[in-house]
Amino acid sequence: MNLILLFDDDFTADAARVRLTGRRLRHLQEVHRASVGDTLTVGRVNGAMGTGIILSMDKSGVEMAVTLNEAPPAPLPLTLILGLPRPKVLNRVVIAATSMGVKRLVLLNSVRVEKSFWHSPRLSEENLRDQMTLGLEQAKDTQMPELLLKKWFKPFVEDELSELAQDTEKWVAHPYDAQACPMNTQRPTTLIVGPEGGFIPYEIDKMKEVGFHAVSMGERILRVESAIPALLSRLFPA
Ligand code: SAM
Repeated sequence: MNLILLFDDDFTADAARVRLTGRRLRHLQEVHRASVGDTLTVGRVNGAMGTGIILSMDKSGVEMAVTLNEAPPAPLPLTLILGLPRPKVLNRVVIAATSMGVKRLVLLNSVRVEKSFWHSPRLSEENLRDQMTLGLEQAKDTQMPELLLKKWFKPFVEDELSELAQDTEKWVAHPYDAQACPMNTQRPTTLIVGPEGGFIPYEIDKMKEVGFHAVSMGERILRVESAIPALLSRLFPA
């Protein structure tokens, strides 16, 4: 945890103080081995970042005086649309995308997504928010991504995708009959990454109908969790 993310409920009656319990308290005690007087990096969700000085700490909670006066990092100008990964992979992918600066993430159905994946408890609002929190804490960021679940491929692509991707570069990562993935575009972009089984030709054709072009990272087929950082680093190098 490189930044402690603060939520509205953490603030006490004094707006410059917070009280934390649970996971963040344990992390401060067990990982940071923090003590009274220590200064830590903090940030308010969807707000500014700054510092927190520990005023008191015991088994029941930690109280900090916070100063929030720094802007969080600029978001990536990217909407990332992902074929819904297996539940086992989902958390890792959401954390990674969040920590790389993705601010709009769409999880999309596809023929090669098993139906049971949509019933996973990992798709609960609470779990997804927890994973995005971990990603923000990792990256020292405060802006919570917007996460959309799209369970119906055809209506999404036919009725919503054009508007969602309006005025952006439109790429679908698909290493067959594709152009090389652009480098350092820095342009507003909508990027679609397939599920673990990849997209079927019909799905690629539907995306092409609304202006998407297939892009490749080379002949090696990467796992979703490798393909995402590889694609983002290439499109938006730091
Ligand atoms: N058997 C599937 C196939 O051949 O399409 C593998 C899918 S791969 C595990 C999951 C997704 O990662 C792909 O649908 C694609 O979006 C992306 N991907 C993986 N390797 C890629 C590459 N070399 N170039 C572009 N995209 C890639």
